[in-house]
Amino acid sequence: MVIKNVSLETVCGITSPLPQNNMPEIAFAGKSNVGKSSLINSLVNRKALARTSSQPGKTQTINFYNVNEEMYFVDLPGYGYASVSKEVKEKWGVMIENYLHTSDMLKAVFLLIDIRHEPSANDINMYQWILANGYEPIIIATKLDKIKRSQIQKHVKMIRTGLNVVGGTKILPFSAQTKQGKDEILDLIEEITRS
Ligand code: GDP
Repeated sequence: MVIKNVSLETVCGITSPLPQNNMPEIAFAGKSNVGKSSLINSLVNRKALARTSSQPGKTQTINFYNVNEEMYFVDLPGYGYASVSKEVKEKWGVMIENYLHTSDMLKAVFLLIDIRHEPSANDINMYQWILANGYEPIIIATKLDKIKRSQIQKHVKMIRTGLNVVGGTKILPFSAQTKQGKDEILDLIEEITRS
């Protein structure tokens, strides 16, 4: 898939109604700092379209990026901020649940997991949540450049076991630094949105 143009079309906070889009949506979920903004920026060949965690004032919103007037990339708010209040965590849950429940155009949810670490309780919950809403989660194992080549299979297996994935679940290793895995992810997105 060649990305010709992309723009941030809609930003939804907790009280904003979700857009009634008529093009396929691909959502990205994951713990804060997992590399979600870096992945989205890499996929669309932009340096700073999606905001990275290091930028202050990053708020808990659902961001809809219009890609090629063909589909939307949906950036779900990151979870697992240690410092946020219980109230904010609850709002986060309501927002994501509402989106997963109500979107008619959502085709797949990519769940990002840092390839170095065992999935957390929040990661496991998110995985189960995606499944429970009837979507097939696709795992992206991020920060691939941080481990040795010889360790990749072992770490992929650790994620597979940690999430207790259902048969057929894809786990795609990816590095925003080397762009390894990018073409496979774009090919998969193309396949999903065309089917
Ligand atoms: P987000 O909170 O999930 O959007 O995460 P970010 O994309 O902001 O990334 C968090 C931090 O991890 C930043 O310092 C990124 O530069 C770094 N990072 C993200 N992806 C990679 C990667 O593939 N390799 C390496 N080495 N660092 C990464």
